[in-house]
Amino acid sequence: MSAEYRVDLDAFARNLRRVRDAVAPAEPMFVVKDDAYAHGLEMLVRRALDEGVRWFGAFDVNTGAAVRAVVGPDARIFVWLIGGADDLAAGIAADLDLGIGDRVLLDDLAALPFDGVARVHLKIDTGLHRNGIRPEEWGAALARTSALVAEGRLRFEGIWSHISEASDADDDDARALFLDARDAARAAGLSPRFSHLAASAAGFARGEFREDLVRVGAFSYGIRPAGGPSEAELGIEPIASLVATVTSIDPAGVHVDVGSAHGLPSALAGRFDVATAGGPRRVETIGFTSLTVAPWDAAEIGEPLTIFGRGALSSATDLAELIDTIGEEIALRVSPVLPRVYAKSQG
Ligand SMILES: *Cc1c(COP(=O)(O)O)cnc(C)c1O
Repeated sequence: MSAEYRVDLDAFARNLRRVRDAVAPAEPMFVVKDDAYAHGLEMLVRRALDEGVRWFGAFDVNTGAAVRAVVGPDARIFVWLIGGADDLAAGIAADLDLGIGDRVLLDDLAALPFDGVARVHLKIDTGLHRNGIRPEEWGAALARTSALVAEGRLRFEGIWSHISEASDADDDDARALFLDARDAARAAGLSPRFSHLAASAAGFARGEFREDLVRVGAFSYGIRPAGGPSEAELGIEPIASLVATVTSIDPAGVHVDVGSAHGLPSALAGRFDVATAGGPRRVETIGFTSLTVAPWDAAEIGEPLTIFGRGALSSATDLAELIDTIGEEIALRVSPVLPRVYAKSQG
Protein backbone atom coordinates (compact mmCIF):
# COMPACT_ATOMS: atom_id res chain seq x y z
CA MET A 1 0.00 0.00 0.00
CA SER A 2 1.22 3.46 -0.80
CA ALA A 3 -2.04 5.34 -0.34
CA GLU A 4 -5.64 4.31 0.14
CA TYR A 5 -9.01 5.61 1.21
CA ARG A 6 -10.22 3.53 4.14
CA VAL A 7 -13.91 3.32 4.84
CA ASP A 8 -15.10 1.99 8.17
CA LEU A 9 -18.41 0.28 7.47
CA ASP A 10 -19.28 -0.19 11.14
CA ALA A 11 -18.91 3.54 11.73
CA PHE A 12 -21.10 4.07 8.68
CA ALA A 13 -23.72 1.76 10.20
CA ARG A 14 -23.63 3.77 13.42
CA ASN A 15 -24.21 6.97 11.48
CA LEU A 16 -27.16 5.37 9.70
CA ARG A 17 -28.69 4.41 13.04
CA ARG A 18 -28.12 7.91 14.36
CA VAL A 19 -29.73 9.39 11.23
CA ARG A 20 -32.71 7.09 11.60
CA ASP A 21 -33.22 8.16 15.22
CA ALA A 22 -32.70 11.85 14.47
CA VAL A 23 -35.26 12.07 11.68
CA ALA A 24 -37.87 9.72 13.17
CA PRO A 25 -40.78 9.35 12.63
CA ALA A 26 -39.80 10.33 9.09
CA GLU A 27 -37.85 7.72 7.17
CA PRO A 28 -34.34 8.42 5.90
CA MET A 29 -33.58 8.25 2.20
CA PHE A 30 -29.87 7.48 1.92
CA VAL A 31 -28.40 9.73 -0.80
CA VAL A 32 -25.69 8.01 -2.87
CA LYS A 33 -24.96 10.42 -5.71
CA ASP A 34 -21.37 10.84 -6.91
CA ASP A 35 -20.42 7.24 -6.17
CA ALA A 36 -21.76 7.53 -2.63
CA TYR A 37 -19.91 10.81 -2.09
CA ALA A 38 -16.80 9.03 -3.48
CA HIS A 39 -16.87 6.29 -0.82
CA GLY A 40 -17.85 3.62 -3.36
CA LEU A 41 -21.47 2.98 -4.25
CA GLU A 42 -21.77 -0.76 -4.06
CA MET A 43 -20.29 -1.42 -0.63
CA LEU A 44 -22.19 1.41 1.02
CA VAL A 45 -25.49 0.52 -0.56
CA ARG A 46 -25.02 -3.11 0.44
CA ARG A 47 -24.33 -2.21 4.06
CA ALA A 48 -27.17 0.30 4.15
CA LEU A 49 -29.55 -2.38 2.93
CA ASP A 50 -28.30 -4.72 5.69
CA GLU A 51 -28.92 -1.91 8.18
CA GLY A 52 -32.54 -1.64 7.11
CA VAL A 53 -32.39 1.32 4.74
CA ARG A 54 -35.29 1.02 2.30
CA TRP A 55 -35.07 4.31 0.39
CA PHE A 56 -32.08 5.31 -1.71
CA GLY A 57 -31.58 8.68 -3.40
CA ALA A 58 -29.56 8.07 -6.54
CA PHE A 59 -29.60 11.37 -8.45
CA ASP A 60 -29.49 10.09 -12.05
CA VAL A 61 -31.04 7.10 -13.77
CA ASN A 62 -27.75 5.27 -14.38
CA THR A 63 -26.91 5.44 -10.69
CA GLY A 64 -30.46 4.39 -9.86
CA ALA A 65 -30.14 1.33 -12.07
CA ALA A 66 -26.79 0.51 -10.44
CA VAL A 67 -28.40 0.72 -7.01
CA ARG A 68 -31.26 -1.49 -8.20
CA ALA A 69 -28.73 -4.12 -9.29
CA VAL A 70 -27.33 -4.17 -5.74
CA VAL A 71 -30.52 -4.00 -3.69
CA GLY A 72 -32.88 -6.21 -5.64
CA PRO A 73 -36.60 -5.60 -5.95
CA ASP A 74 -37.62 -4.50 -2.47
CA ALA A 75 -36.06 -1.11 -1.83
CA ARG A 76 -37.29 2.17 -3.28
CA ILE A 77 -34.86 4.19 -5.38
CA PHE A 78 -35.51 7.84 -6.09
CA VAL A 79 -33.86 9.66 -9.01
CA TRP A 80 -34.23 13.31 -9.88
CA LEU A 81 -31.97 14.02 -12.83
CA ILE A 82 -34.11 12.97 -15.78
CA GLY A 83 -33.09 14.31 -19.14
CA GLY A 84 -35.99 13.19 -21.32
CA ALA A 85 -37.90 10.25 -22.71
CA ASP A 86 -34.93 7.85 -22.74
CA ASP A 87 -34.25 8.49 -19.08
CA LEU A 88 -37.93 8.04 -18.26
CA ALA A 89 -38.01 4.71 -20.09
CA ALA A 90 -34.82 3.52 -18.40
CA GLY A 91 -36.06 4.67 -15.02
CA ILE A 92 -39.37 2.86 -15.39
CA ALA A 93 -37.56 -0.27 -16.58
CA ALA A 94 -35.37 -0.21 -13.46
CA ASP A 95 -38.45 0.31 -11.25
CA LEU A 96 -37.24 3.69 -10.00
CA ASP A 97 -39.25 6.46 -8.34
CA LEU A 98 -39.05 9.41 -10.72
CA GLY A 99 -38.56 12.94 -9.46
CA ILE A 100 -40.16 15.15 -12.10
CA GLY A 101 -39.14 18.79 -12.01
CA ASP A 102 -40.16 19.83 -15.50
CA ARG A 103 -43.65 19.85 -16.97
CA VAL A 104 -42.32 18.75 -20.36
CA LEU A 105 -41.38 15.40 -18.83
CA LEU A 106 -45.05 14.74 -18.13
CA ASP A 107 -45.72 15.18 -21.85
CA ASP A 108 -42.82 12.84 -22.59
CA LEU A 109 -44.28 10.32 -20.19
CA ALA A 110 -47.70 10.58 -21.82
CA ALA A 111 -46.15 9.84 -25.22
CA LEU A 112 -43.98 6.97 -23.99
CA PRO A 113 -44.98 3.36 -24.56
CA PHE A 114 -44.32 1.39 -21.38
CA ASP A 115 -45.82 -1.38 -19.29
CA GLY A 116 -46.95 -0.79 -15.77
CA VAL A 117 -47.36 2.43 -13.86
CA ALA A 118 -44.73 5.15 -13.48
CA ARG A 119 -44.18 6.24 -9.88
CA VAL A 120 -43.81 10.01 -9.94
CA HIS A 121 -42.76 12.58 -7.33
CA LEU A 122 -43.48 16.09 -8.57
CA LYS A 123 -40.98 18.73 -7.63
CA ILE A 124 -42.15 22.22 -6.84
CA ASP A 125 -39.51 24.93 -7.26
CA THR A 126 -39.43 26.64 -3.89
CA GLY A 127 -36.77 29.18 -4.72
CA LEU A 128 -33.51 27.44 -5.62
CA HIS A 129 -34.35 27.66 -9.34
CA ARG A 130 -32.33 24.56 -10.16
CA ASN A 131 -35.03 22.38 -11.45
CA GLY A 132 -38.55 22.16 -10.23
CA ILE A 133 -41.92 23.17 -11.55
CA ARG A 134 -42.50 26.89 -11.07
CA PRO A 135 -45.48 27.83 -8.91
CA GLU A 136 -47.12 29.50 -11.93
CA GLU A 137 -46.94 26.19 -13.84
CA TRP A 138 -47.97 24.00 -10.95
CA GLY A 139 -51.67 24.00 -11.77
CA ALA A 140 -51.03 22.85 -15.34
CA ALA A 141 -48.65 20.16 -14.10
CA LEU A 142 -51.28 18.90 -11.68
CA ALA A 143 -53.88 18.75 -14.45
CA ARG A 144 -51.47 16.76 -16.62
CA THR A 145 -50.71 14.46 -13.71
CA SER A 146 -54.41 13.89 -12.97
CA ALA A 147 -55.00 12.88 -16.56
CA LEU A 148 -52.16 10.36 -16.45
CA VAL A 149 -53.40 9.00 -13.13
CA ALA A 150 -56.87 8.57 -14.65
CA GLU A 151 -55.34 6.65 -17.56
CA GLY A 152 -53.61 4.36 -15.10
CA ARG A 153 -50.16 5.27 -16.36
CA LEU A 154 -48.91 7.29 -13.41
CA ARG A 155 -49.05 6.89 -9.67
CA PHE A 156 -48.69 10.17 -7.81
CA GLU A 157 -46.25 9.00 -5.16
CA GLY A 158 -44.76 12.17 -3.87
CA ILE A 159 -44.29 15.87 -3.78
CA TRP A 160 -40.85 17.18 -3.02
CA SER A 161 -38.49 20.11 -3.13
CA HIS A 162 -34.92 20.99 -2.27
CA ILE A 163 -34.03 23.83 0.09
CA SER A 164 -30.82 25.76 0.58
CA GLU A 165 -30.39 25.02 4.30
CA ALA A 166 -28.33 28.21 4.32
CA SER A 167 -30.74 30.33 6.34
CA ASP A 168 -33.75 29.41 8.43
CA ALA A 169 -35.72 32.33 7.03
CA ASP A 170 -35.17 31.24 3.41
CA ASP A 171 -36.03 27.68 4.32
CA ASP A 172 -39.23 28.84 6.01
CA ASP A 173 -40.25 30.72 2.86
CA ALA A 174 -39.47 27.63 0.77
CA ARG A 175 -41.53 25.47 3.09
CA ALA A 176 -44.51 27.82 2.82
CA LEU A 177 -44.42 27.46 -0.98
CA PHE A 178 -44.09 23.72 -0.59
CA LEU A 179 -47.15 23.49 1.65
CA ASP A 180 -49.16 25.68 -0.74
CA ALA A 181 -48.23 23.38 -3.61
CA ARG A 182 -49.29 20.35 -1.61
CA ASP A 183 -52.60 21.98 -0.69
CA ALA A 184 -53.18 22.70 -4.37
CA ALA A 185 -52.43 19.06 -5.23
CA ARG A 186 -54.87 17.83 -2.61
CA ALA A 187 -57.50 20.26 -3.83
CA ALA A 188 -57.01 18.76 -7.30
CA GLY A 189 -57.66 15.30 -5.88
CA LEU A 190 -54.00 14.30 -5.85
CA SER A 191 -52.76 13.24 -2.42
CA PRO A 192 -49.08 12.33 -2.38
CA ARG A 193 -48.09 9.34 -0.27
CA PHE A 194 -44.72 10.91 0.46
CA SER A 195 -43.69 14.51 1.07
CA HIS A 196 -39.99 15.35 1.29
CA LEU A 197 -37.93 18.52 1.29
CA ALA A 198 -35.16 18.30 3.89
CA ALA A 199 -31.59 17.06 3.50
CA SER A 200 -29.16 16.35 6.37
CA ALA A 201 -29.07 19.74 8.07
CA ALA A 202 -32.77 20.63 8.17
CA GLY A 203 -33.68 17.01 8.80
CA PHE A 204 -31.65 17.05 12.00
CA ALA A 205 -32.29 20.59 13.18
CA ARG A 206 -35.87 21.34 12.17
CA GLY A 207 -38.62 18.92 13.03
CA GLU A 208 -41.29 20.58 10.90
CA PHE A 209 -39.21 19.92 7.78
CA ARG A 210 -39.07 16.16 8.20
CA GLU A 211 -42.40 15.24 6.63
CA ASP A 212 -42.33 11.59 5.43
CA LEU A 213 -38.81 11.23 4.06
CA VAL A 214 -35.54 13.05 4.75
CA ARG A 215 -32.91 12.78 2.01
CA VAL A 216 -29.67 12.33 3.94
CA GLY A 217 -26.28 12.31 2.27
CA ALA A 218 -23.56 14.15 4.19
CA PHE A 219 -24.43 13.09 7.72
CA SER A 220 -24.63 9.42 6.74
CA TYR A 221 -20.98 9.69 5.74
CA GLY A 222 -20.09 11.60 8.90
CA ILE A 223 -19.52 14.87 7.06
CA ARG A 224 -20.60 17.80 9.22
CA PRO A 225 -21.61 21.18 7.76
CA ALA A 226 -18.87 23.81 7.44
CA GLY A 227 -19.32 26.46 10.11
CA GLY A 228 -22.00 24.38 11.80
CA PRO A 229 -22.29 21.96 14.71
CA SER A 230 -19.51 19.47 15.49
CA GLU A 231 -19.68 15.76 14.77
CA ALA A 232 -20.10 15.15 18.50
CA GLU A 233 -23.04 17.55 18.69
CA LEU A 234 -24.64 15.84 15.73
CA GLY A 235 -23.84 12.36 17.02
CA ILE A 236 -22.10 11.31 13.81
CA GLU A 237 -18.51 10.29 13.06
CA PRO A 238 -16.28 10.46 9.99
CA ILE A 239 -16.26 7.09 8.27
CA ALA A 240 -13.35 7.45 5.86
CA SER A 241 -9.68 8.28 6.15
CA LEU A 242 -7.00 9.02 3.63
CA VAL A 243 -3.98 6.94 4.68
CA ALA A 244 -0.57 6.86 3.00
CA THR A 245 2.73 5.20 3.78
CA VAL A 246 6.07 6.96 3.88
CA THR A 247 7.82 6.47 0.56
CA SER A 248 11.04 8.43 1.18
CA ILE A 249 12.84 10.46 3.81
CA ASP A 250 15.42 13.15 3.17
CA PRO A 251 16.59 16.37 4.82
CA ALA A 252 13.58 18.21 3.42
CA GLY A 253 11.20 15.94 5.29
CA VAL A 254 9.12 12.82 5.04
CA HIS A 255 7.38 12.14 1.75
CA VAL A 256 4.24 10.26 0.85
CA ASP A 257 2.77 9.71 -2.59
CA VAL A 258 -0.43 11.71 -2.27
CA GLY A 259 -0.77 15.09 -3.89
CA SER A 260 -3.12 17.43 -5.64
CA ALA A 261 -3.55 14.87 -8.43
CA HIS A 262 -5.19 12.64 -5.83
CA GLY A 263 -7.57 15.39 -4.83
CA LEU A 264 -5.81 17.09 -1.93
CA PRO A 265 -6.01 20.84 -2.62
CA SER A 266 -2.52 22.32 -2.77
CA ALA A 267 -3.83 25.43 -0.97
CA LEU A 268 -3.82 23.33 2.20
CA ALA A 269 0.00 23.19 2.28
CA GLY A 270 1.40 24.55 5.54
CA ARG A 271 -2.04 24.68 7.11
CA PHE A 272 -2.73 21.35 8.76
CA ASP A 273 -1.11 18.48 10.62
CA VAL A 274 -1.31 14.81 9.85
CA ALA A 275 -1.19 11.95 12.34
CA THR A 276 2.16 10.14 12.25
CA ALA A 277 3.93 7.57 14.40
CA GLY A 278 5.94 10.51 15.72
CA GLY A 279 2.86 12.54 16.63
CA PRO A 280 1.22 15.40 14.74
CA ARG A 281 3.34 16.77 11.91
CA ARG A 282 2.70 19.71 9.63
CA VAL A 283 2.15 19.16 5.92
CA GLU A 284 4.71 21.55 4.46
CA THR A 285 4.24 21.18 0.72
CA ILE A 286 1.67 19.54 -1.52
CA GLY A 287 2.91 18.71 -5.00
CA PHE A 288 1.12 17.06 -7.87
CA THR A 289 1.72 13.47 -6.77
CA SER A 290 3.40 13.75 -3.38
CA LEU A 291 3.46 15.77 -0.22
CA THR A 292 6.14 16.56 2.34
CA VAL A 293 5.62 16.38 6.06
CA ALA A 294 7.88 17.82 8.77
CA PRO A 295 10.23 15.02 9.89
CA TRP A 296 10.22 13.08 13.12
CA ASP A 297 12.86 10.91 14.79
CA ALA A 298 12.86 7.30 13.72
CA ALA A 299 10.54 7.89 10.78
CA GLU A 300 10.63 4.78 8.63
CA ILE A 301 9.78 4.05 5.05
CA GLY A 302 6.52 2.11 4.91
CA GLU A 303 4.97 3.45 8.10
CA PRO A 304 1.49 4.84 7.69
CA LEU A 305 0.26 8.34 8.31
CA THR A 306 -3.31 9.49 8.32
CA ILE A 307 -3.92 12.62 6.31
CA PHE A 308 -7.53 13.41 7.06
CA GLY A 309 -10.73 11.81 8.21
CA ARG A 310 -11.35 9.08 10.73
CA GLY A 311 -8.41 8.77 13.13
CA ALA A 312 -6.71 11.86 11.70
CA LEU A 313 -6.37 15.29 13.26
CA SER A 314 -8.67 16.93 10.70
CA SER A 315 -11.96 15.85 9.23
CA ALA A 316 -12.88 16.59 5.61
CA THR A 317 -14.85 19.58 6.87
CA ASP A 318 -11.94 20.81 9.03
CA LEU A 319 -9.81 20.94 5.87
CA ALA A 320 -12.64 22.51 3.90
CA GLU A 321 -12.97 25.32 6.41
CA LEU A 322 -9.31 26.22 5.93
CA ILE A 323 -9.99 27.03 2.28
CA ASP A 324 -13.57 28.27 2.53
CA THR A 325 -15.34 25.34 1.04
CA ILE A 326 -17.49 22.46 2.30
CA GLY A 327 -16.53 19.00 3.52
CA GLU A 328 -18.30 17.32 0.62
CA GLU A 329 -15.88 18.95 -1.78
CA ILE A 330 -12.84 17.53 0.02
CA ALA A 331 -14.49 14.12 0.14
CA LEU A 332 -15.62 14.17 -3.50
CA ARG A 333 -12.17 15.11 -4.73
CA VAL A 334 -10.52 11.97 -3.35
CA SER A 335 -9.30 10.44 -6.58
CA PRO A 336 -10.79 7.22 -7.88
CA VAL A 337 -7.25 5.96 -8.47
CA LEU A 338 -6.81 5.58 -4.72
CA PRO A 339 -8.13 2.17 -3.74
CA ARG A 340 -11.15 2.11 -1.46
CA VAL A 341 -10.54 -0.32 1.37
CA TYR A 342 -13.45 -1.38 3.54
CA ALA A 343 -12.69 -2.23 7.12
CA LYS A 344 -14.49 -3.19 10.24
CA SER A 345 -14.29 -0.79 13.15
CA GLN A 346 -11.16 -0.35 15.14
CA GLY A 347 -13.52 1.24 17.67
C1 LIG B 1 -27.34 15.94 -2.45
C2 LIG B 1 -28.78 16.05 -2.18
C3 LIG B 1 -29.30 15.70 -0.92
C4 LIG B 1 -28.42 15.31 0.24
O1 LIG B 1 -27.88 16.47 0.84
P1 LIG B 1 -26.95 16.37 2.14
O2 LIG B 1 -26.80 17.76 2.58
O3 LIG B 1 -25.67 15.74 1.66
O4 LIG B 1 -27.65 15.50 3.11
C5 LIG B 1 -30.67 15.76 -0.76
N1 LIG B 1 -31.49 16.12 -1.76
C6 LIG B 1 -31.02 16.47 -2.98
C7 LIG B 1 -31.98 16.88 -4.03
C8 LIG B 1 -29.66 16.45 -3.22
O5 LIG B 1 -29.19 16.79 -4.43
